[in-house]
Amino acid sequence: MPSLKPAAGLPGTPFALLLSLLQGARGLLLLATLASLVGGLGATAMVALINQALGAGDDQLSHLGLQFAGVVGGVLLLRLLSQALFMYLGQRAKAQVRLRAIGHMAQASYAHLERYGSARPLAILTGDLDTLVVFFLNLPTLLTQGTVILGCLAYLGWLSWQLLVFALLAVALGALGFLLVNGRALDLLRRSRQREDDLIQQFRALFDGAKELKLHRRRRQVFVEETLARPIESVRRQRTLGYVLFSAASSWGSLVLFGFIGLTLFVLARVFAVDGHVVSGYAITFLYIILPIESLLGAIPVIGSARVALERIARLDSDLPLEPIGTAEPDQGFERIELRGMTHQYFREKENSLFQLGPVDLVFTPGEITYLIGGNGSGKTTLAKLLVGLYESEAGTLLLDGSPVDARGRDAYRQCFSTVFSDFYLFDSLLGVLAPHLESQARLLLRELQLEHKVSIEDGGFTTLDLSQGQRKRLALLVALLEDRPFYVFDEWAADQDPEFKEVFYQRLLPDLKARGKAVLVITHDDRYFNLADRHIKLDMGKIVAHSHRSDSIDEPV
Ligand code: ADP
Repeated sequence: MPSLKPAAGLPGTPFALLLSLLQGARGLLLLATLASLVGGLGATAMVALINQALGAGDDQLSHLGLQFAGVVGGVLLLRLLSQALFMYLGQRAKAQVRLRAIGHMAQASYAHLERYGSARPLAILTGDLDTLVVFFLNLPTLLTQGTVILGCLAYLGWLSWQLLVFALLAVALGALGFLLVNGRALDLLRRSRQREDDLIQQFRALFDGAKELKLHRRRRQVFVEETLARPIESVRRQRTLGYVLFSAASSWGSLVLFGFIGLTLFVLARVFAVDGHVVSGYAITFLYIILPIESLLGAIPVIGSARVALERIARLDSDLPLEPIGTAEPDQGFERIELRGMTHQYFREKENSLFQLGPVDLVFTPGEITYLIGGNGSGKTTLAKLLVGLYESEAGTLLLDGSPVDARGRDAYRQCFSTVFSDFYLFDSLLGVLAPHLESQARLLLRELQLEHKVSIEDGGFTTLDLSQGQRKRLALLVALLEDRPFYVFDEWAADQDPEFKEVFYQRLLPDLKARGKAVLVITHDDRYFNLADRHIKLDMGKIVAHSHRSDSIDEPV
């Protein structure tokens, strides 16, 4: 059985990707290909038998008839076999790419994932993969028909070698037409796929921004008629043109074919004074070959689309570089985390400017509550992401108990932290949280956070996530508390909570975490509770402008 575990890493070229997809199934691929090829040869043998039967005497006819029946039966069985095998290989390839792409995305660096966005990966995991399956489904036809064509060409050559030369010239002429348009058509398909990625992003806004669109008629109109309609129109134009070019190549192929047939039957047969039986052989072969050639030409767009899909999947490799995962075990605790001269930069496209956080020098120790304060956009969340190892620092060093955390150690380092960021995501179950007496602990916390009438936990999953934002945040806090990690980071957790829950959070939960020896970083604007922190760090425009301990005054400079 082929392994269907999500493996990280995708080969960086379409061809290498295709090969890697077939790994472990090469035997089946060979069998499917052989079935298609032998089926194709069998179908070619049928034309020779038909031609023989036309000139055969009565005594040969029953023998030829039996042969014909045998070949027909064999060809049908082989066709069934090759179609079933290629269907299996196509679905297997789809599942494998899906799992590998997911594995790749799960192991890509957070900063790249954030920058890249979800539209293209979502399009790849759905549309592009279906294109690949369609390609696989077409493979038996392509191989069988290709063999029929080659077999018929060989049969023509056996009937007359001069004719074969003309046939090969016709093939070359057909291929030339194809090559002329293929590059342009592929380019159009590539660009239309990119446009579709943008569209997926915009489709989301139809739902996420439903309130804003309903409340503002002009906005809705501009969004639908311009923001959405324009890329839809471009996709329509690029797709149509791309496929028309492919059709032109295909029609050109048909034109060359019919030209060749006409030339042979009406001109060459006379010029070379070919005998009547051979000419009827040509005619039957030509009639027989038309359908395979047409279906081969018809498959050109499928091959083109599959190529574009493979290119896009393979590009994930360079667009989303993998983060090295070391073998270090996650740390169960720490004595000291130190940020020494660390920085992080963003390029803000809209303003065409850089935002730089740092250089930051900070030390965190267990059992200490630190409040991180500062205006909007001052860099608080960025500092939290740098601290928890989501971002790589461009300068300086991150030290865990005195040892630098390098790229290979970052994943293990991140396991020190439990977080609730302001744009947290709530999974519908306690995935991977392995606390002892998990469900009873969870029930206690549900009661404490006054969620027990709304949500319960069954088989490790929440019964509902259909909650208000404040309730969802409380549930996210519950998950973080159950994780029981040594370092807690809360990014404006209390911002949309009732005063009652602010009290619970600042007066009970945070001191409780401190008493249990946890380090806690709280990003907050709640100045009512400032006196409860062991120290305050204030950021302004990416720089630490004040750093004070409980006994100091907050405005004291570092
Ligand atoms: P705060 O948490 O203090 O509000 P942030 O750390 O979120 O501040 O942001 C600091 C600055 O960095 C802001 O100017 C913001 O626009 C910019 N910024 C934040 N995240 C990104 C990002 N992913 N890409 C580009 N710029 C960003």
